[in-house]
Amino acid sequence: MRRYSTTAEPAPAEPANSLFQGGGARRSDWQTVRNLLPYVWHYKWRVMLALTCLVAAKVANLGVPVLMKKLVDSMNIAPGDPAALLAVPVGLIVGYGLLRLSSTLFTELREILFSKVTQSAVREIALQVFRHLHALSLRFHLDRQTGGMSRDIERGTRGIQSLISYSLYSILPTLVEMSLVIGFFVVRYDIWFAAITICALAGYIVFTIVVTEWRTHFRRKMNELDSRANQKAIDSLLNFETVKYFGNEEYEAHRYDENLRTYRTAAIRSQNSLSFLNFGQQAIIALGLILILWRATVGVAAGKLTLGDLVLVNTLMIQLYIPLNFLGVIYREIKQATTDMDRMFVLLGTQQEVADTPGAPVLDVNGAEVRFRHVGFGYEKNRVILDDVDFTIAAGTTTAVVGHSGSGKSTLARLLFRFYDVTRGSIEVDGQDIRKVRQVSLRASIGIVPQDTVLFNDSIYYNIAYGRPEATREEVIEAARAAQIDTFISELPQGYDTPVGERGLKLSGGEKQRVAIARTLLKNPPILVFDEATSALDSRTEQAIQSELMRLAQNRTTLLIAHRLSTVVHADQILVMDRGRIIERGTHAELMRANGHYAEMWQIQARNAAEGSPDADALAIDVGDATQDA
Ligand code: ATP
Repeated sequence: MRRYSTTAEPAPAEPANSLFQGGGARRSDWQTVRNLLPYVWHYKWRVMLALTCLVAAKVANLGVPVLMKKLVDSMNIAPGDPAALLAVPVGLIVGYGLLRLSSTLFTELREILFSKVTQSAVREIALQVFRHLHALSLRFHLDRQTGGMSRDIERGTRGIQSLISYSLYSILPTLVEMSLVIGFFVVRYDIWFAAITICALAGYIVFTIVVTEWRTHFRRKMNELDSRANQKAIDSLLNFETVKYFGNEEYEAHRYDENLRTYRTAAIRSQNSLSFLNFGQQAIIALGLILILWRATVGVAAGKLTLGDLVLVNTLMIQLYIPLNFLGVIYREIKQATTDMDRMFVLLGTQQEVADTPGAPVLDVNGAEVRFRHVGFGYEKNRVILDDVDFTIAAGTTTAVVGHSGSGKSTLARLLFRFYDVTRGSIEVDGQDIRKVRQVSLRASIGIVPQDTVLFNDSIYYNIAYGRPEATREEVIEAARAAQIDTFISELPQGYDTPVGERGLKLSGGEKQRVAIARTLLKNPPILVFDEATSALDSRTEQAIQSELMRLAQNRTTLLIAHRLSTVVHADQILVMDRGRIIERGTHAELMRANGHYAEMWQIQARNAAEGSPDADALAIDVGDATQDA
């Protein structure tokens, strides 16, 4: 099973939460439980009341056999004597019934009081983990499997419920009952009764834990083999045709049976060890009972105890052992719950790589000039991705970045969004270092239309409104109209309520792109990033979207990352990147005149366009226009 360690997070940062001094190391179970306590203690009055009910239920439980003893002792009368009828202890009988009922009443009251505490703790922790996951860096998310993380949260929250319910509904009541019974024996009878009970209980608990630890291994092996046999069977059936082609039915059956055989061995061992556990537990109980009854009968014979006492000690012992029968299962479940919770708390303890400095101000945007000052960056320590990148996008202008695949173009956008911090130099917006302002305010000022738009599995309306969830319906429709997707939407049978499918797969590339434009329009940010926003489209759609993008970019500071040069000819400044460095810069006309890398790339794309290469047809459309510019 994959563990989430924080060792991959290099940057110094604030602990996410001082409670969770995370780290990759496996914490102790006790530490995991301690992390939970503040959440539970939040409701301390409820907890106290619930604990009072717990003790009350157990006192009532203890009272039941005590009343029974009194009943037995009061029945020491000659049968048939008419006077004996008067001696029937009605009060004791009614009291017996009431005590039994009140034990259940207090138990139920405890559950009612505590369910709010458990559910609130689950809710608070799950929400905190979810928030925290969104606060973690892109690096963290790229390194982990989302499915695995959501399973960790799910198991962790389930773990909280099991831990609270097992400890509160099983372990704690049993401990209270043990203390009451032992205390009762000490006060009421001689020390032998208490001593025998303590020894028997200690033996029982130690034996159960040791044997359960030992047999957990068999169970785990059994589960592992079970899923492996299952996997083999499925794989074999999926390859039905291949099995037939090679006439390998017997071979497959043999492979399947091999797993079944080892599973059988593990299952038998598991069953045998369970029988051993059960027998051992009962043997300890029987020994305890024999010793107690021996002391009790000796007491009766000596006239120190009554028959009622004999019944009482026997009942108390049996009553005490009933919940202990499940101790093995409970022990295993609690271990499992703390392991599950541990994974979740480790997630919560993962430090934020990119964190706001305490008291950071919000970004004050005034025109939105973007400045990359001698920026150096690498995703990993010993691999440089950007080297001394220095440029300014004047307020309200467009700067395009072109270059070979992998030259670091998209990295510029990720750094501007502060998904990562630069390793050298700085990035400024209107003269403010983006590391010194609140991330939320920085990201609120930037809108992006990415290369591959991923949509939420919800309606078109939801996806457009995502740009500004508080926008009115009119504003959303207005944005859709401006992105020229309104007509398409109104032709759909479900209109704006049409579901877009997982990741937006029910829409075409161009439609998704327009949804992305619409939601960016709705956000209305002063800075825009187009990251190869049209490269996945055919030339006609690209043309249509291109003009929308240009309209969107008017009077906004725009970073335009492009693969096709036809899309950048109108930019105020073009940067040519190669292996993380800017090797040329200027307008389209200047770069063409310089006859360097840009001019060479232009000619290659123009040649491809002339030869009809599909990758360059957009260029073909724009070449005339651009050459005139040049
Ligand atoms: P393209 O035109 O193909 O989109 P690009 O110029 O935008 O390329 P970037 O996405 O900026 O290139 O990537 C620059 C380099 O950084 C690539 O070599 C890539 O392998 C590497 N890289 C990108 N993301 C990561 C990451 N999360 N971890 C490690 N390396 C990465």
